[in-house]
Amino acid sequence: MDDKRYPRKAYNMLLNLQRQNYNTWACSIRNVLYKFGFGVVWEMQGVGDIKSFIKEFKQRLIDCFKQDWHSALESHDFYNVYSHFNHSLVRSPYLSLLNNISVRRVFARFRIGMSALKFHYLQYRPVIHDRGINCPFCNDTPETEVHFLLTCQKYKALRDELIPSKYYRQPSMFKFFLLLACTNESTIQKLSVFVFKALTIRKQSLSVSVTL
Ligand SMILES: [Zn+2]
Repeated sequence: MDDKRYPRKAYNMLLNLQRQNYNTWACSIRNVLYKFGFGVVWEMQGVGDIKSFIKEFKQRLIDCFKQDWHSALESHDFYNVYSHFNHSLVRSPYLSLLNNISVRRVFARFRIGMSALKFHYLQYRPVIHDRGINCPFCNDTPETEVHFLLTCQKYKALRDELIPSKYYRQPSMFKFFLLLACTNESTIQKLSVFVFKALTIRKQSLSVSVTL
């Protein structure tokens, strides 16, 4: 941009302030360029061919974001289960498939390990872990996602109605992952309704037992 233009004048002003160790918007530009391996652009204060630079820079941002996303999934215990059925950074089909906002929200939270299930609830609250992780309706069985979705007798009728039997006839972690990664529209819709209704049953049953 020509030095006479106001945006260029403003940039030059910020650049001068940055050289005097002031923290300005130009510092952010410098930091981003260095972070993604384009420090030479900052030093030269130019990019040569603008179109090529923008194309290359944009691709670098996308690649780094994907890399960070994968390493975040692998390094956090919270995403242990989620990372097994969601491998790629694409929009999950359920987001556009489920029109009911309440069902979609509950299902999305369940997928990332945020629900009232003991196994979910206690991973964010290790302090109260000594209260037990067992299912409130089954003796000596941890209330994991697999138990809730595929084996707990409390939701048997709902399961028989909404989930294909091939997933829970011989339940396993592998089948749980297969079910969560399923792309069949009907299965996704019924699965989300199961999660929503089963959690509602759970909540109602526990509030009744506390009242009694
Ligand atoms: Zn149970």
